[in-house]
Amino acid sequence: MLDFTRKLLTWYKIQGRKNLPWQENKTAYRVWISEIMLQQTQVKTVIPYYLRFMEVFPDIATLADAPLDTVLALWAGLGYYTRARNLHKTAMIIQHHYNGKFPSDPEKIIALPGIGRSTAHAILAFSEKQALPILDGNVKRVLARLHTLPGWPGKPDVEKKLWELAETYTPTRRYIAEYTQAIMDLGATLCTRSKPKCNDCPVSNECLAFKNNATALYPHPSPKKSLPTKRTFFLLLKNQKNEILLERRPETGIWGGLWSFPEAETPDLPFHYLNHYGLNDEHTSQVLDPIKHTFSHFKLIATPIKHRVRIKRSSAMSNTSILWHNPHDPLPKGVPAPIKKLLQQLEKENV
Ligand code: SF4
Repeated sequence: MLDFTRKLLTWYKIQGRKNLPWQENKTAYRVWISEIMLQQTQVKTVIPYYLRFMEVFPDIATLADAPLDTVLALWAGLGYYTRARNLHKTAMIIQHHYNGKFPSDPEKIIALPGIGRSTAHAILAFSEKQALPILDGNVKRVLARLHTLPGWPGKPDVEKKLWELAETYTPTRRYIAEYTQAIMDLGATLCTRSKPKCNDCPVSNECLAFKNNATALYPHPSPKKSLPTKRTFFLLLKNQKNEILLERRPETGIWGGLWSFPEAETPDLPFHYLNHYGLNDEHTSQVLDPIKHTFSHFKLIATPIKHRVRIKRSSAMSNTSILWHNPHDPLPKGVPAPIKKLLQQLEKENV
């Protein structure tokens, strides 16, 4: 066993995190859900989501059998909803093609929707103690600093080098799950993005970035690209009963399948909305403060425009892709966090 690995394991025994909910009863299913939730989201945010998710979906079968809506509803607030849609798809594949059991072959796991190499390896390292290296963001940071590895870790040649290093340090026979957790913990608690706690680090003697006083330089940042901005209008249609129209978004694209406001390119109420939903425009509108939200590939600036409308056809009520939300009722399942915030604000200010 290499010095680095041994020191890390000794540190983990004393300092490592051992009471996270997904560390109990480490089945492939439980590890998988935690790994997907932890992508782009911090541990303390994930814990309550994870516990609720496990209560409703304790195993693959319950997740595979559930309607997508219920899965999305439990995900609402975590963001990056593709993760939830992929979880559901993958659960159905495992349930129907693998008899409800995760395959033990990493390549078969990688072929499932939404599971990359590092996640597949983490699932097998934790649940079956297979000697497979992981390389999530935390591990990349630790290894890049340890070796002062030049280049952005997203570049294929740099990533290849990092995988080689990850493999070198991963034990081959014993303590595989412990090591996997230890290196994740090191990255999450000591070798943090800013201000790493090198004086407390068990591997500082091996770390080139520390020796060269260069921790801030590694890993190299991604080449700057500024995100494009998309501007849009959210149409807040209020009927004579003060109910507000929510529309289910298409399955693909941002907030796929979740409830939001009808969206338009201009602040006016387009005729096709009135026609489609059987409404009359009462020609009173009010512009509210824009809401801003950053997605992985663009920034959204949406200006809410409140319109008073009157329902003229009862058919407008029976459309399953819309609902009239009474502000005094609980919100429907599956409302993205920024929309929820706006609805709560409207109710509070009685707008
Ligand atoms: Fe990270 Fe500092 Fe430890 Fe190096 S010494 S691995 S930079 S915490």
